[in-house]
Amino acid sequence: MSIRIKLLLSYAAMLVIPLVITFFTALLLIVVFRGDLQTIREQYGVGAHRMFEDQHVEGILKEMKRSVEKNPSILSDSSYLSDLDQELLRNKSNLIVRKDHRIIFTSPSIQQTEILDHLPAFEDSGHVERDEAVHIGKQLISFGHFDFRFADQTPGSVIVVTTVNPLVNFAQKFFPILFITSIIILILTNTILTYFVSRSIIRPLQRLKNAMKRIEAGDLEFQVVPTSRDEIGELSVAFEQMRNQLQHSIHTQIQYEENRKELISNISHDLRTPLTAIRGYVDGLGDGIADTPEKRQKYIDIISSKAEEMDHLIDELFLYSKLDLNRLPFQFEIVDFHAFLLDLSEELAFDLGKQGVHYSSNITLEPETYVLIDRDKLKRVFANIMDNGLKYMDKTEKTIHLRAFMTTDDVVIQMTDNGQGIEPDALPYVFERFYRADLSRNSHTGGSGLGLAITKQIMDGHEGTIQADSTVGESTCITMTLPRRNHKVGDQQ
Ligand code: ATP
Ligand code: MG
Repeated sequence: MSIRIKLLLSYAAMLVIPLVITFFTALLLIVVFRGDLQTIREQYGVGAHRMFEDQHVEGILKEMKRSVEKNPSILSDSSYLSDLDQELLRNKSNLIVRKDHRIIFTSPSIQQTEILDHLPAFEDSGHVERDEAVHIGKQLISFGHFDFRFADQTPGSVIVVTTVNPLVNFAQKFFPILFITSIIILILTNTILTYFVSRSIIRPLQRLKNAMKRIEAGDLEFQVVPTSRDEIGELSVAFEQMRNQLQHSIHTQIQYEENRKELISNISHDLRTPLTAIRGYVDGLGDGIADTPEKRQKYIDIISSKAEEMDHLIDELFLYSKLDLNRLPFQFEIVDFHAFLLDLSEELAFDLGKQGVHYSSNITLEPETYVLIDRDKLKRVFANIMDNGLKYMDKTEKTIHLRAFMTTDDVVIQMTDNGQGIEPDALPYVFERFYRADLSRNSHTGGSGLGLAITKQIMDGHEGTIQADSTVGESTCITMTLPRRNHKVGDQQ
């Protein structure tokens, strides 16, 4: 069953059940207090064209009508009239008897003589009638009456004057209208309520259904905004999270696919360049173009360096792809980083000194600063950075500076060279594989553009960070961070 039908049924039940209960309660109350159901029929039934304030008064009038029709002269009996008047008085009513236009009996309790001017005219309808209540003076008066003829055919009327309670009068007069109106209001309220409630449920559900259809059709470029805070709102939020996740994973997948294609094309290109050169020189040797032993030696040297270049490239590619596929496990160990850096700095000083590079260091780590590292891979990081520092050096006075310090959570290492620097627009891409800034200037340096990509992967594997800052023509600074650990050597994680 749809939510719409369920809601409709429940609202219909909400409407019908109270009505049925009210109806039967009302019937029950009437039976208990009035003794029968006849009263209702008389009060509201067809033909009961006038309503009586009190059934008893009507009874007296009917009784009188019968007696008068049998014997009109009974109205000359003042004791009969006084008795009846007394009885009527108990029901807030008074008796008036009229012969032609003359009042032949007036209840002594009628104080307002004005009433006599408003008495109903002779109609001789043959029924006991009750006129609608009218305002006379300050009172609301209702006339019950019947007309007859005296023995001499003079028109006569017996009139009962009843003082009506305005509230009771109003309630009696308008009860059916009020009842019907309240039922209409009840139905209307329920219908409107049902409409709005069902709309608040069905609309968001329909929106979700449409969103699902869009996803099914492969469209994820939209947003599901929750419109309410109810269960459906929560469902929308969960749906939006799912859509986001799906969109993200599809994007990642597309990105991977793109990267893979790019990687293959880059590898082909980078391998072909030295290979073409090798083939050219081999052909040169074969064709006898290198006709002197010096030329032949030069060709062989070039072929050898190109082959080395290819070897280096394949090596780096292999390392990179292993790191990328997580196939190269890290051999992590807790290391006293201060000691590790001092050793490394000593090695660098020795190597760089041999190449005529001015090396300096500023290591302000506390002894026993522990870091979780893979020694060999981290050395590879330093080697790659160092390699770049030397490769992209355009000064005769070459300097490389190593700085290391601590923050609350990390160890920070900076390597700065005074080389050619990196253009600001190239800076964000230097850690991407195969990216080589300023190809024209770098063409003579060789390289695959994998060095910093490998460095970044190794730093990621260490839960560390790496970034490059540079001033073109002046210097390049590579900053790395590694998280500090509290464990001593041997307490491996
Ligand atoms: P490979 O390291 O694989 O031999 P590569 O050095 O070109 O090749 P990366 O080490 O990844 O590749 O460096 C990417 C690019 O960033 C370089 O081509 C170079 O343009 C620029 N670069 C990196 N380090 C420096 C530096 N210290 N000074 C100036 N440019 C640099
Ligand atoms: Mg490099």
